[in-house]
Amino acid sequence: MSFTSHMETALQEARAAGERGEVPVGAVVVDPSGRVVARAGNRMRELHDPSAHAEVLAIRAACAAAGSERLPGHALYVTLEPCPACAAIISAARIARLYYGASDPKSGGVAQGPRIFTHTQAHHVPEIYDGIAAEESERLLKAFFAARR
Ligand SMILES: [Zn+2]
Repeated sequence: MSFTSHMETALQEARAAGERGEVPVGAVVVDPSGRVVARAGNRMRELHDPSAHAEVLAIRAACAAAGSERLPGHALYVTLEPCPACAAIISAARIARLYYGASDPKSGGVAQGPRIFTHTQAHHVPEIYDGIAAEESERLLKAFFAARR
């Protein structure tokens, strides 16, 4: 099914991020016709940029390609629950559907913590599907942090 293959692409980006020494998180933006228009992994360390999360980089690239700061009808696949900053950007970008993998009790901002989309200040709330390929996403993260200890 397509949502699985797009999450597989996001997982490839997560693995590539881990190989670069970044926390292994990957994201993919899919346009309304189902075409992948952007894919990215974390690059905070490489870019010396605390905002260079996979979701932000993928949304930036997709917006640049679309020539718009909004991505109506687009879907975002990300291997880990977005943090509060990314959740706010997902809302601002008018992403239609958010698919994510593992939940993030430490830094997540969707299903826990600030729960960005539940606030009245979230002017746009995507459809949210969690737990997609969550086990593989979690396995990557655990292996990464275990190797760094
Ligand atoms: Zn984030």
